[in-house]
Amino acid sequence: MSAIKSVSGLLDAGLIQEAAGLDAVAAKYAISITPAVLALIDPSDPDDRIARQYVPTIAELDTTPDERADPIGDLTHAPVEGIVHRYPDRVLLKAVHVCPVYCRFCFRREMVGPQGLGTLSAAELDAAIAYIAAHAEIWEVILTGGDPLVLSPRRLRTIMEKLATIDHVKVLRFHTRVPVVEPERVDHAMVDALKASGKITYLAVHANHPRELTPVARAGFDRLIAGGIMLISQTVLLRGVNDDVETLATLMRTFVENRIRPYYLHHPDLAPGTRHFRVSIEEGQALVGALRGRISGLCQPTYVLDIPGGHGKADIGSAAISGTDGCFTVRDWQGGAHAYPPK
Ligand code: SF4
Repeated sequence: MSAIKSVSGLLDAGLIQEAAGLDAVAAKYAISITPAVLALIDPSDPDDRIARQYVPTIAELDTTPDERADPIGDLTHAPVEGIVHRYPDRVLLKAVHVCPVYCRFCFRREMVGPQGLGTLSAAELDAAIAYIAAHAEIWEVILTGGDPLVLSPRRLRTIMEKLATIDHVKVLRFHTRVPVVEPERVDHAMVDALKASGKITYLAVHANHPRELTPVARAGFDRLIAGGIMLISQTVLLRGVNDDVETLATLMRTFVENRIRPYYLHHPDLAPGTRHFRVSIEEGQALVGALRGRISGLCQPTYVLDIPGGHGKADIGSAAISGTDGCFTVRDWQGGAHAYPPK
């Protein structure tokens, strides 16, 4: 069984009842729903939280003035093709702009997919590696995309072996949906390729709903961990998917139960045609505040906003403290206000 990649495929699978307007959506933003994702969707539920992440709607044609093609400003920090150098000690290496699924809220939706930026050529990859080698301040390389785990183990190994030769790079980090949406790819050959650099390797698992963490996905996490790869999470806060305390609490606990350390909870970016996914910052702060009292400290993600224009991430979780001149009011998880320092 292969992924659904067309409007007619969505109709055939019963994921949509009518195609009106969706060809225009598909012409702008790629569609892909893997068998593993399809198996999680209840087509009879119009509010299915998995379907909402992957099944296109005509709401995507509705853009707002503040949305932008490059919402987090990657292109303002791109010294060579495939590299984003936003912070001094780390770079993104975007070798591929293809994904196993195409998320309807994707912040790089104008860059990924068949009509996107494609895959780096061998010469472009060599230039990107040369850039990293020439910048001794780069301590960490973050492999993202697209999804780097769509590459074959052989191609991943080639990249890892090139990075292995750069002494000042100490840590590699992959950001990927594959362990959740195409878990069968996470086999021993893939794990061996991911650790072929011999460097400390982290992998950020992108999941937005606890139902995505299936037994098959969990078996892949176990293989990664057995291979010495450390797992962290990333989640996008999405209206109609995970914008309630119960879902977020269960998701974060499920990460921890699977030895995945909660890392980022992203405020949704200003990607074109994604207004229907965005919650307000106040709603997000209330949700993370409620998590604080409800679940263990181990389960707390950092709630971050990528500041539009390429200014990097800001921690926006703390509506908990305000004040000036050394006098603050701190709010506890139940909303109680306390002076700090105490009077
Ligand atoms: S996997 Fe990541 S890059 Fe690919 S469509 Fe989803 S959010 Fe975008």
